[in-house]
Parts: sequence; structure tokens; C-alpha cells
Amino acid sequence: MCGVFGIHGHPEASNLVYLGLHALQHRGQESAGIVSSDGAQLFAHRSMGLVQAGFSPKDLAALPGDRAIGHVRYSTAGGSHLRNAQPFAVDYSRGSIAVAHNGNLTNHEPLREKLEAKGSIFQSQSDTEAIIHLLAMSHQRALPERIADALTQVEGAYSLLFLSERALIAVRDPMGFRPLCLGKITREGHPPAYVVSSEPTSFDLIGIEYLRDVAPGEMVIIDDEGVKSSFPFAPEPRRMCLFEYVYFARPDAILEGASVYEVRKALGRRLADEHPIPGAIGGDDTVVIPVPDSGVPAAIGYAGRAGAPFEIGLIRSHYVGRTFIEPQQSIRHFGVRLKLNPNRAVIEGKRVVVVDDSIVRGTTSRKIVKMVRDAGAREVHVRISSPPTAWPCYYGIDTPTRAELIAASSTVEETRQFLGADSLGYLSLAGLEAAVSSVEGRREGAEKHPSPSYCDACFSGDYPVPIAPPKGRQLRLVNG
Ligand code: AMP
Repeated sequence: MCGVFGIHGHPEASNLVYLGLHALQHRGQESAGIVSSDGAQLFAHRSMGLVQAGFSPKDLAALPGDRAIGHVRYSTAGGSHLRNAQPFAVDYSRGSIAVAHNGNLTNHEPLREKLEAKGSIFQSQSDTEAIIHLLAMSHQRALPERIADALTQVEGAYSLLFLSERALIAVRDPMGFRPLCLGKITREGHPPAYVVSSEPTSFDLIGIEYLRDVAPGEMVIIDDEGVKSSFPFAPEPRRMCLFEYVYFARPDAILEGASVYEVRKALGRRLADEHPIPGAIGGDDTVVIPVPDSGVPAAIGYAGRAGAPFEIGLIRSHYVGRTFIEPQQSIRHFGVRLKLNPNRAVIEGKRVVVVDDSIVRGTTSRKIVKMVRDAGAREVHVRISSPPTAWPCYYGIDTPTRAELIAASSTVEETRQFLGADSLGYLSLAGLEAAVSSVEGRREGAEKHPSPSYCDACFSGDYPVPIAPPKGRQLRLVNG
């Protein structure tokens, strides 16, 4: 998974992109990069690790100009090299271009083989680089047409930002797998500056007015003349990723008109309807605790509906990032304990309902169940605010292979035994979709979809864009 942020028309462009990336840090912690333009030339800085660590004031000062794009990235193990860090920036026959990508191209292997057969030399393992080659080879004249021409040859998920010397161009794939939204900064006596971001999480911080989502299949061109919009691709049914609501996006984000926080609470309420706490609830015998931070809103929804108190039973260290993102299993194991500690005062002697958003490999939940039991819980009931994750994502969320997904090979009862829980309940797919739709319907001013539909491939195995079978050499997916 990755995050992208771009701005056009502000004298502090790279500083604001830095702040924007900071607010998108949850979408990728492996590398960060910014490319700016002063109208004549591109300037780039990329670095491994967190945004805060990767950019000194000197680095930012070396990114002049009133337009810039940035990227935060996380990848699966093995792709962790500076050369895969984005935005990519190149010079080609028509000038300079930089690109930042959230998503994954499903046909990148055959595409890369085709391009290499024609003589292209790749500098990274990234599928995004193929887009630059296609764009450079296009016979179209103007940049928007070249980009559209390149993108008609790729398949899969892309929320993309391009920066040329003069223009910022944002494109969202026709199914709209990954989010992308548009905002505006008004400055007295100046034309407005425009912002494009994966999520509107930085908008309050920077004083950006949220305008709207970039629509699936839309290309937004921002230059000195203002904002233009076009739809260069054949329309497809919209399929935004459900897992963005479940886990990935920050709870204060608004995606497709719906508050992620409200959606997560609705998931928790629905989960309580589908999988209530076993036995009678009364007195202070039972507590509902979230796995922080991802399980918090769902646990609030669950506790409210179940009529049991919500408590903080696991204390999270704020100095540890998303443990799942650690590349090695051994580090991940250690990471859970480093990150979470049980709060005995809440747990001891209680029937504890632990709410989390998802189980992937099962290793985190197993450790948590043991931790809660060791802290004196009488019973431990695990509730998950999404269905079993049984299928890998090929559209930008780096879930492990099917073999590593516990739900791919185990029944719910087998998973319960592996976790060591007294009971385990997952939200159904129908419940998840109903909960998401219920929140969308309630929001004033929300975009109205006649029949909202989502990508649920990680739960259902129903892949909206086919995955090209690997031929010969295995290329690793290194974006997100
Ligand atoms: P696991 O131990 O593999 O079952 O990890 C499950 C935990 O990882 C859950 O608490 C989720 O909040 C989190 N998680 C689920 N999917 C992802 C993902 N694709 N990237 C990062 N974290 C995730």
C-alpha cells in the first residue's frame, strides 16, 4: 500500500507535500520521496524510512518551486531498496516527468517482458516504471494524451500523480480501487492552489478545503490555467477496495463520501448483531477491548450495541509502527509484544471480548489472546470486523501469499483453536457491505451511487481484474 500527495500553485509546495505525506504515513513506512518543479526543471529527494527521518530542512530547501508530488511506500519483503522508492523522475524526449503510484498493475509482468523485448532498460523492480516507458514511447503529442495512451495498456489498480515541469496530472483507474481526493487552498490575492491526496487526512492540518473525490476513470489536469477534468477510458463498474474502510485508511478520512470512522463503528454494531457475546451480560463482569489502533472504532460500535463496557485493555506504544509491515516473521513476533501490553486492571477476572479489524496470518491475534489470558482474563472472545481474509490482494495491498493466510487453509473453528480463544466470530461479507452502505446513505452531500459495489477479492476470491499468469521469471510486486 502506498500514499500519494501533490500540490500545484503554492510557493511552499514541497513543505506542504512533506506535511501531506506525514498525514499519509500510515499508508507506507518504508520509503518516502518528493519531486518538485519550479516551472522549468524537476528536483527530487527520496529516502528510506519515515517521512520525518527522510527529509531535513536542507533537503526540503533543495526542492524549490510551486508544484510538487510525494509518495510514501510499503512493500512486501525483498523490494526494500531506495531504487524502488517513488516518485520516479526521468528525462525523456519531451522533457521531464515524475510519477507516484498507489496500487498495483496486474499485467506488469507481460508488459515488462514486452518492453524489455523492445529494448527498454528498467532501473527498478517496480511495475510503475513500465508506465513511464509507455508514456515515453507514445506517439501522442500532448502529455495528457500520452498518459492516457500509456494507461490504456495497463491493467489493475492505479491512483497516480504525474508531475511535468508545468502540470500536475492525477489519474484514478476506471474501477477506482484506491482512493484519491481533490482539495483547494485559497490565498488572498493569488489564484487557488490545488491538492490531490490519497486521503484527506492532512486537509485540516494544512488548511485545505475538501472539494471532492477524483472519480474512477477520471484524469484531472492542474496547471496555471486551473483544473480540467476528462474521462479518457471506457467506463467500468466502480470497485473501490473494501479493506480501505476496514483497516487501511485513517479513521478521520472520508472515502467516497463516507466517514471511515463511522463505517468502522457500523461494522462493530453489525458484528455484535451477528456474533453477540456468549452468555448473559450484567454487572462489570464483561469488557469489550479493542486491539489498538485498528480495532478501536469497531470495538466502540460493538460495545455500544452489545451493552457491555468499552475499555482500553491493551496499551499501545506509540513509538512502534504497524508491525505487520516488518519484513521478517521473527521481527513481527517480537513487534507485537513491543507494541502492545495488557492492562491488568481492566482484564483480570473478566470475560474479555477482543475486537480487531482482521486476521491475516493469525500470529498477531494468537499473541494477543495469550497476552490477555496471561493477564488474568477468565474468557477471551475474539471478534473480527471483517470476513476471513482468504485471498491475496493484487491491487495494492500487500497481503501475503495464499499459503500464509490462515483463513485460506483453516476453518473458523480451526482458527479459533490456533488462536486459543474461547470463541471467534468474523463479520459476514453481506454484513460488511451492508454496514458500509448504511453509512454512505446517511451522509449529507455524499456522492450517491445507485448501487455501490466494492472490490472484496481478499474475502471472496472474486477478482474484478484478472491476474496475468506469471510467465518464466517471477517479478515481485514492490509497490503498494
Ligand atoms: P496477522 O498477525 O498476520 O493476523 O496480522 C493481523 C493484523 O495486521 C491485524 O491486527 C490488522 O490490523 C493488521 N493488518 C491486516 N492487514 C494488513 C495489511 N495488509 N498491512 C498491514 N497490516 C495489516
